Amino acid sequence: MRISTIEAIPLKHSLEDGRGFGGTRGVTTTRTATLVKLTTTDGTVGWGEAFAPPRTVATLVEEVFRDAVVGTDPMNADTLADDVYTGDIVGYHFGREGVVQAALTGVEVAMWDLRGKQLGEPVRRLLGGQNREQVTPYASTMYITEWGEDPAEPMSAAAEEGFTAAKIKIGRSVDDDVHRVETAREILGDDAHLMVDYNGNYTPSQAIESIHAIEQYDLTWVEEPVPPENREGYERIRTRVDVPLAAGEAHFGRFEFTDLVTDGTVDIIQPNLGRCGGLAEARYIAQVATTENVQVRPHVWNSGVGLAAALQFASTVPSYPEPSGRAGQPVLFEFDRSENPLRHKILTEPFDPTGGSLDVPDEPGLGIDIDEDAVDEYRVD
Ligand SMILES: [Mg+2]
Repeated sequence: MRISTIEAIPLKHSLEDGRGFGGTRGVTTTRTATLVKLTTTDGTVGWGEAFAPPRTVATLVEEVFRDAVVGTDPMNADTLADDVYTGDIVGYHFGREGVVQAALTGVEVAMWDLRGKQLGEPVRRLLGGQNREQVTPYASTMYITEWGEDPAEPMSAAAEEGFTAAKIKIGRSVDDDVHRVETAREILGDDAHLMVDYNGNYTPSQAIESIHAIEQYDLTWVEEPVPPENREGYERIRTRVDVPLAAGEAHFGRFEFTDLVTDGTVDIIQPNLGRCGGLAEARYIAQVATTENVQVRPHVWNSGVGLAAALQFASTVPSYPEPSGRAGQPVLFEFDRSENPLRHKILTEPFDPTGGSLDVPDEPGLGIDIDEDAVDEYRVD
């Protein structure tokens, strides 16, 4: 079985006027994704997602990766990232981060999907590792909204849906941070896991002040308190607070993640399976992280395809290490609760995160079927 065609499919959903939302660094008015579709000589189809500006990354996939994968065996998925690093693909002059890693990820994940379908196994069994059949979903919610939503509303909805963990957006001011965290904790209850995400909107001093004001609410982690590039800021915060720090959604590939881990910048890394370099790359990153006592919990703000890839990966990562005082912590898995039809409409069977548990598909490959009519509905090329 060889790969015979490659297609990149840019998708976009525009939110209605006034319905933009996001984090403290800004709101979005669209939800986007770029699917990568590989077809083999026997007609098997594999899917991946390249999470980057849609038409830009679609061009990169078709212009640069077509020659690298058409005619090859999907079993070569493990070496695709190596071929980028050695310069066999793209060349070494243009950098290997950002959009290049997103394109690589989309193609590589589609190859793993094919590989699983060829062998009749879910990707999680091919990756090795823990091979969990369920993870604990956490609601990514309480966004900053254009319409000034009452923060209690989305958190009450998450609690009613049975979520036992949630992550909320903060980072506008210390008073607002306290109000939002207090609201979330009151609604979710004392036993729930609660995380906060600043999207890098603070300086290190502001972040330290904010974290000291909210740490009484028992936070499982604090995400991106300062911008991803501000490594010195992370290290300064880490010496001044006693709450686990997380980052990784804006980092790419084995070299950046190895630096994050070995420099002691964070306690939890969050590779995104739409742009971190692929499933083999994520597995490599997880092995390095675990060796250095850093937890791995993927970031997920993707379509249903990137979500499925992250879920397969998350089911394989070690529980170890567990932050002090948190023995028995479940493997928390990010599940965005904001408006995004690309998350559920393009799948014939959408994921159901309600009830406090999320099943990891057991079907071959990523374990999903794509509704191609729905895909066409959101296509923007
Ligand atoms: Mg985040």
